[in-house]
Amino acid sequence: MKTWDVVIIGGGVIGLSLAWRLRRDGASVLIVEKSEPAREATHAAGGMIAHCDPHNPPALASLIAASARMYPEFVRELREASFESPDLRNAGTLAFFEQDESPGCDAARAITDDDLTRLEPFVSLRGRSFFLPESSVDPRKLASALEKTLRQSGVDFVTGSPVNEVAVLGGRTAGVRTAKSFYAGDAVVNCAGAWASMIRPLGVPTRPVKGQMVCVVPPPGPHRPGPLIQHVIRTPEVYIIPRSDGRIVLGATVEEAGFDKRVDPDTVQRLHQAAANVAPAIGEMRIHEVWAGLRPGSPDDLPILGPTALPGYFAATGHYRDGILLAPITAHVMAQLLTVRKPDFDLAAFSPLRFR
Ligand SMILES: Cc1cc2nc3c(=O)[nH]c(=O)nc-3n(C[C@H](O)[C@H](O)[C@H](O)COP(=O)(O)OP(=O)(O)OC[C@H]3O[C@@H](n4cnc5c(N)ncnc54)[C@H](O)[C@@H]3O)c2cc1C
Repeated sequence: MKTWDVVIIGGGVIGLSLAWRLRRDGASVLIVEKSEPAREATHAAGGMIAHCDPHNPPALASLIAASARMYPEFVRELREASFESPDLRNAGTLAFFEQDESPGCDAARAITDDDLTRLEPFVSLRGRSFFLPESSVDPRKLASALEKTLRQSGVDFVTGSPVNEVAVLGGRTAGVRTAKSFYAGDAVVNCAGAWASMIRPLGVPTRPVKGQMVCVVPPPGPHRPGPLIQHVIRTPEVYIIPRSDGRIVLGATVEEAGFDKRVDPDTVQRLHQAAANVAPAIGEMRIHEVWAGLRPGSPDDLPILGPTALPGYFAATGHYRDGILLAPITAHVMAQLLTVRKPDFDLAAFSPLRFR
């Protein structure tokens, strides 16, 4: 029977990124995915690399800063390997803050109304605003590039098969079981996102946090090439993420709604209107796609990273609102742990054992 060094449960951005790093380190890797890779939270995400967001948990500051620093190289390597572009955009973010809020990074700078007019002529909203040196990617393109690279480099995939449990032999992990098969592995990593808590043995307590999103495109007819706006725009009501092909993504709700992924027409209208209040031309744009995804939340809103109580069984999940941002650093530190190296960061605050 074939045995892999590492079996990864879940082919979202976290599982795919980790598989990439492990393969580069020489490990044999199998990803077992319940449906198709990257069709869940990763498919739904906006893709902001929002390392200056003041709402980021303070305990995550060093991982977030490190991951944002790693992004350009992560994407460069991925483009070279896959010949696909994840649409990394470095124009920055224009963020409108409430009076009592400040940006979450030193490199932010306050901007005037004149700056706003110059930077984004289509934005009519005025208020206390800052330029943040952030970037964004298209998570669907990022995942597609990762999957292509993994398949080329010999990572194995089993799709359409939910893992029910991690198999145990002689007190340590032996692999994973689906309804039909057993896959043997020396180590197993639970990267199953919002579903991670359902896999036995229990102890990776994620929960789904729903987010609804809207994508708008220019109306038919002649229009300028590229997006109407260049920067990511964040206000307390809405965020607006331009893609290089002219699409603009508007987000997002944060809802405790279990595994419900239905989209509510009133919510779609509210997000579209909130974006039109920022830039009236967005109100003229056509709704191209609406969707909802399930962020992997955790009891303390921090990721769950590291060894579980079962030897050989690890978790890398619970990235909540920051899984795209945190993918490079998560893959880096988890690959270090799995190849028995000392991680560059102290992961004690993120240990799965903290919930016991
Ligand atoms: C609306 C929305 C907007 C967001 N915007 C941003 C953003 O701008 N920036 C940012 O950094 N983050 C953002 N996020 C968060 C980000 O999407 C997530 O943190 C990230 O995608 C988590 O990745 P993941 O691989 O852990 O989970 P997922 O992408 O959900 O992947 C988990 C995978 O595991 C599979 N799986 C589940 N159970 C099993 C099982 N039993 N067996 C096998 N496979 C299984 C699933 O099918 C899925 O493919 C957003 C999320 C949402 C919903």
